[in-house]
Amino acid sequence: MEDTVFAKIIRRELPADIVYEDADTLAFLDIHPNNPGHTLVVPKKPFRNIFDIDDETLTATWRAVRKIARAVQAATGAEGLNVNTNNGSAAGQVVFHYHVHIIPRFADDGFRLWPGKAYPSAAASAALAEKIRHALA
Ligand code: 5GP
Repeated sequence: MEDTVFAKIIRRELPADIVYEDADTLAFLDIHPNNPGHTLVVPKKPFRNIFDIDDETLTATWRAVRKIARAVQAATGAEGLNVNTNNGSAAGQVVFHYHVHIIPRFADDGFRLWPGKAYPSAAASAALAEKIRHALA
């Protein structure tokens, strides 16, 4: 596991606007916020992303996320929040230390959700659902 800027923030080797800390997690403002109050929640134990994080750390992280989300909403007056994780370069992940984005949203903030795509046929979606069920088995 490579050293990352988030590991450095956890070790206090890099500055950050820290908003929350407990035994397992740290939360701080994103340096390039999508909207003011954009907060990142990271586990102190390093994992790259959803593909390798253990259940215990995932649970601790998301328990903190819910608590912090409410505080971010209260502090910013956000009308909504996007709470998301990017997993892998193709999904936009840049820092390979698991983290959850809490992004305050406003009806007039100019962001649009990704456009939806259509399946070519009902058979195509059914086949893909079957493939995912098989991968889960
Ligand atoms: P990703 O694209 O990996 O999901 O998101 C990484 C996030 O980390 C980006 O939103 C970026 O602005 C933020 N970020 C990158 N470097 C730093 C840093 O040194 N400090 C803080 N506070 N945020 C950072």
